Amino acid sequence: MDINAQTYPRLVRPALVIAGLAAFVSLTWSLLQAGELQMDPVLYWLWVPLWLCGFVALVLRPVRLARLDADTVIMSRMIWCNIGAVSLAILVPSLLRLLLLAVPLYGVMYAAIHLARSQVMLVSMVTASVYLSGVVYLTAVDAVDLNIEVFTGLAFAALLAGVLLIGTEFQAMRDGLLERNRGLRDAMERLQDMALKDDLTGLHNRRSITELLARQKALADRGAQTFTLCYCDLDHFKVVNDRYGHAVGDVALKQFAELASAVVRNVDYVARFGGEEFLLVLVDADTGTANRVAQRLADHTRQMWIPGTDNAFKMTVSVGIASYQVGERVQDLINRADEALYQAKRSGRDRVVLA
Ligand code: GH3
Ligand code: MG
Ligand code: MG
Repeated sequence: MDINAQTYPRLVRPALVIAGLAAFVSLTWSLLQAGELQMDPVLYWLWVPLWLCGFVALVLRPVRLARLDADTVIMSRMIWCNIGAVSLAILVPSLLRLLLLAVPLYGVMYAAIHLARSQVMLVSMVTASVYLSGVVYLTAVDAVDLNIEVFTGLAFAALLAGVLLIGTEFQAMRDGLLERNRGLRDAMERLQDMALKDDLTGLHNRRSITELLARQKALADRGAQTFTLCYCDLDHFKVVNDRYGHAVGDVALKQFAELASAVVRNVDYVARFGGEEFLLVLVDADTGTANRVAQRLADHTRQMWIPGTDNAFKMTVSVGIASYQVGERVQDLINRADEALYQAKRSGRDRVVLA
């Protein structure tokens, strides 16, 4: 799960882990010296380095482990940490054992904060199993003090249950936060969409295309690709609304938007600039290319059939084209395209005029 946000500087966590392990090993070593840890010293010096090396390997994640996902690696670390810690703690047949058991409890708590419920259960079950196996071993070699075993066993079980309970609350809190985060992210994406897209056609809206034009201008001014604008205005569109109704007008606008999107390349931009006016921004294209694109769009528009209209009805579009001239303001470019569009309207509509 994705909450491994950095809570403190990068090296603090490894330093804490190293300090914790060092304290744990020093403590077990002292207990071994004092005869409180009932383990063969040779075995101790074989097991402890092996355990620590295993832990370091899980932290450094060499070759094979690198392919595991982050949660599985955390779980493996906690399981390995607890196997080592419990296996040493269980060999202390006195109440001092509870001191050492703080480490596996921390392991379960860490798992509970970072991992999914099933993984936390696995870490807890392995921890409890190692503990029980230890008790069985001690019974077999006749090294148990029943009072101590019952007391430490119950105390450990109670502490483990407490940690799991707190862990469950942490998880609920974390799940709630993750859920809320997802909701916020979705809402933000929707808002962004709403801010930049036209509701009816799904094209870029005026605000969005204005930003894109500013970006294209900056690129062109720096000597990168230039661009050409096609200012399209549907002819006598008011008549569509008047004759067939506003809903049919909306369908016509959507269909035209699809046509316009289909005639450009996917590096170009199509926007609804207002009412029945559309802008095509053709990237890295001169007026010749733009003229061909606009002619194709005008052809398709003439052939477009709009559901709800009769066969006699023919939709047409007028287009004004202007290529960006280095240094000019975006508004001036739009004005030049608009001027060409006005010429197209004045000279009879259903045509393309170059600025
Ligand atoms: P011209 O050839 O000179 O451009 O004539 P026109 O009728 O297309 O131009 P005019 O500006 O007179 O009318 C534009 C019409 O577009 C009027 C308006 O009701 C309609 N219109 C604008 N936005 C929408 C919309 O979202 N849906 C529908 N159905 N109609 C719209
Ligand atoms: Mg208009
Ligand atoms: Mg019009």
